[in-house]
Amino acid sequence: MISLDEARAFVLGACGPLPSVRVPLSDALGCVATEGLVATEPVPPFANTAVDGFAVRAADTCGASPASPVRFRVIGTIRAGMAPAFPPGPGDAVRIMTGAPMPDGADAVVMVEDSAAAGGTDEVDLSAEVAAGAHVRPAGDDLRPGDDVFPAGDLITAGHLGVLATFGVTEVEVVPRARVGVFSTGDELVEGPQDLLPGQIRDSNRRTLLALVEQAGCTGVDLGRIPDDEAAITDAIERGAATCDALVSSGGVSMGDFDFVKVVLDRVGDMRWMQVAIKPAKPLAFGTVPGGSSASGSSGAARRVPVFGLPGNPVSSVVSFELFARPGLRSMMGRAASDLDRPRVRAIVEEPMHRHRDGKIQFARVVCRTGEDGRFHVWSAGRQGSHHLSALVGANALAVLPDGDAVDVGAEVDVLLTDLGA
Ligand code: AMP
Ligand code: MG
Repeated sequence: MISLDEARAFVLGACGPLPSVRVPLSDALGCVATEGLVATEPVPPFANTAVDGFAVRAADTCGASPASPVRFRVIGTIRAGMAPAFPPGPGDAVRIMTGAPMPDGADAVVMVEDSAAAGGTDEVDLSAEVAAGAHVRPAGDDLRPGDDVFPAGDLITAGHLGVLATFGVTEVEVVPRARVGVFSTGDELVEGPQDLLPGQIRDSNRRTLLALVEQAGCTGVDLGRIPDDEAAITDAIERGAATCDALVSSGGVSMGDFDFVKVVLDRVGDMRWMQVAIKPAKPLAFGTVPGGSSASGSSGAARRVPVFGLPGNPVSSVVSFELFARPGLRSMMGRAASDLDRPRVRAIVEEPMHRHRDGKIQFARVVCRTGEDGRFHVWSAGRQGSHHLSALVGANALAVLPDGDAVDVGAEVDVLLTDLGA
């Protein structure tokens, strides 16, 4: 057996970032930017009003109060989208709407709440004294040309898309979302509502793994169910590698007579078959196979496609995905080392977690909640066998139980929060 850290380092070593590509803003959310953004224009581009009200020369409001409002002549109305107009003279006010440009000569805005109609529409009583600059957003108040907006390496968020759009940028250079092919192996697997024949079970892993691939920020590609047949598995891997950046399979990596995934990977790629000191998910077949010339827009004849041969037991495949495939795939998408795994927190054990000393780190499916003390607390999510799909439904976290005997109530453990989205 090798340690979790050694297995993980081996996997990450083969999961370097994909070549960057230019994508439209609509495809960039959640990708890592490979170029930074420097402001090219002032934002806002012109001085404008932050409120609906009256643009004035601030000095003219001297002494204005609710008890003694000052009367102004209204010389025009400016709406958002109009060019600046109606430069006010002494005693003039311009009715102005939020976002509209300040007229030349006006240096403050009195809020509409501090105004009262004075007879006709061409006069207004203003009841607030304002200083120069009041309620005015100067040009460049937010960003000036040459300002660094964000650096290369930032994850593109909704906010990043907004600033890119504000400068009229339509495409951005990013590490692309990895296209990840998922297939399951096993002669026993069927799917759909029809009755099961003796010995058959329905394929559950593929659905779960495709969802985890999407949650990791990748694009999942369904490569179907593949029988325990060397030629069929070879074909699935070669076809998948031609169009995908990475492959994830389940089953066929243990010691059974028909566990061909590891056999094929060894033959068509450079695979390492690992027995990792964890429970569940001890066996892992990981390696790279030759890819075609292009998957996520990447090019280069020497493209290598990482293949994660995960074990078939449903819980094992999930745990193995979380510990190896998720960080590997996110590394391929340029995520920082601190952003490869699920968030890890400390939590207080509220129910004994049974285990025995076996040289392995165990990962228990748990429910994790914040208590009134503001700390995280964990309960078992149900039965902990590697075939117990049911506990995957209730669990929102994996508790990390270090080697040793049972973890008692009140002890603190590390917990991976698996249910926090991508
Ligand atoms: P394997 O790793 O192929 O030896 O499979 C281990 C166990 O997981 C066996 O009981 C399989 O029937 C089961 N299994 C394998 N693949 C799947 C799958 N896609 N969905 C549900 N169970 C599976
Ligand atoms: Mg199998």
